[in-house]
Amino acid sequence: MLRRRVLDSAFGAGHSVRSLSTRASDILSKFSIRPDAELKGVYDGTWRGSGEVIQSICPTTGEVLANVRTASPAEVQETLAKTREAYVKWRNEPAPRRGEVLRQIREALAAKREDLGALVSLEMGKILTEGVGEVQEFVDICDYGVGLSRMMNGRVVASERPGHSILEMPNPLGVVGVLSAFNFPVAVYGWNLALSLAAGNATIWKPSPTTPLCSIAVTRIISQVLEANGIPGAVASLVNGGKEAGEAVVESPGVELVSFTGSERVGRIVGQNVASRFGKVILELGGNNASIIMPDADLSLAVPAVFFGAVGTAGQRCTSTRRLYLHRQVADEFLGRLKTLYGSVAVGDPLAKDTLLGPLHTSTACDVYTQAVEKLRSLNADIITGGERYQRDGLQGGNFVQPTIALPKSVNPKDGIWSTEIFAPILNVAIFDELEEAIEWNNAVPQGLSSSLWTRDIRNVGRWIGPAGSDAGIVNVNVGTSGAEIGAAFGGNKSTGWGRESGGDAWKQYVRWSACTVNFSDAAPLAQGVSFAS
Ligand code: NAD
Repeated sequence: MLRRRVLDSAFGAGHSVRSLSTRASDILSKFSIRPDAELKGVYDGTWRGSGEVIQSICPTTGEVLANVRTASPAEVQETLAKTREAYVKWRNEPAPRRGEVLRQIREALAAKREDLGALVSLEMGKILTEGVGEVQEFVDICDYGVGLSRMMNGRVVASERPGHSILEMPNPLGVVGVLSAFNFPVAVYGWNLALSLAAGNATIWKPSPTTPLCSIAVTRIISQVLEANGIPGAVASLVNGGKEAGEAVVESPGVELVSFTGSERVGRIVGQNVASRFGKVILELGGNNASIIMPDADLSLAVPAVFFGAVGTAGQRCTSTRRLYLHRQVADEFLGRLKTLYGSVAVGDPLAKDTLLGPLHTSTACDVYTQAVEKLRSLNADIITGGERYQRDGLQGGNFVQPTIALPKSVNPKDGIWSTEIFAPILNVAIFDELEEAIEWNNAVPQGLSSSLWTRDIRNVGRWIGPAGSDAGIVNVNVGTSGAEIGAAFGGNKSTGWGRESGGDAWKQYVRWSACTVNFSDAAPLAQGVSFAS
């Protein structure tokens, strides 16, 4: 039931004693979040917060879910210092012991999977199955981190000098600052935390200011495990706050690695700031992902996959399908079938079982959507379906927009409508005749995150995944652009930032590599036969 009631002011300006909808209060009660309480948004072994108050606003109803005290500038610095102290202790724990703590975190998260998934759905707005799936991703990466804790191997390199060995050794790196986006308020932190903890680092997390409750709930779960094991809680610190808190973490010389997930605009600033102090950075920025449909594609698989890619999470995944390139031979049939699916999409409360389309995260995102559609219309694009905000009963309180398919007049990928990531369910379509042309369009945008080719022809597959193929970080075949697994390194190229997180070799960025030449002999020869005898 969607219901909103705001009662008397009890805290002064901007704060209210509220009676929340049952859907919200039921979920919040699982995390002991009371609607009339002000939550502390900072954790570094103790919970506190004396900075500005931010509100968590439900995208489905518009109701204020909670008020959260952010970190004051001094508290950010204090938390940074506490995180470093915690790192100095944590780095001495043997890696398998760190893995054991991670295993306990995994168990604690799994026990709360449904509740936490519901909180993600409530606060972010994605449908419940995706919210739960996001928590599962955190559980999965913890499993991976537990395994890694016994496999973060260096190597022994042959030395040219007699009686010498060269070791390439991974050691803990230091403090990792994790700055995350609103759309994956749990999983992105999980990717970083699991690898970082296994590697012997401490993390300081600055989540999106619009999803503070997810960050508090996750940190409560993790801190209980840490504290039960006698480990300083600041191994996994939290500072809620806005741009200033993010800047403080990014600029701190005590943060060895900044892992930033967010927009290209902010990522550009963050990347430059970290580089200016010679810090390490992982950038996971915007995507502008294309699916290409060849004439031999199995449309019974491709159409639903494009539907999920473009409409799932209301188009708010970094990997959402934003561009669709259809071979002329199948264009009409594909569009007909896709339009039918769009027409049947169940829109509404993302917590309801049958809903496939929830709201956009903020009302500002609705404005971005509206402006993008207006721009398409001004360029005489054919709006095949959608293009409006939902006005029907029960949806007006939230940020609901119609999923949109547009056929722009221009197919030039350099045009703004093709080259910009619009974080909303808008799918632009163009028709091609040769695969080379579609690959050229795929690669012509600034971003390089995900891409997908649908074909049964092995020759097309070879072209697509080879040197002249897709230049994205994710190059799928008969799989949509969205929905990655944790096992492979995740990330994109070009203006997506070149970052890699999660599986593959991503862990190697979270350690400090040393090349150690050890001399076991009774002589001290120089390399390359250099003689320096006096
Ligand atoms: P955003 O860039 O607005 O914010 C991201 C984070 O940066 C937030 O925590 C924000 O408070 C912080 N921030 C803002 N200004 C800052 C500054 N000057 N210095 C330091 N931190 C600052 O992004 P968003 O709107 O929350 O998220 C959507 C974007 O994230 C989309 O572009 C999406 O594609 C991208 N994203 C990318 C990936 C990926 O893996 N490539 C994953 C998820 C989201």
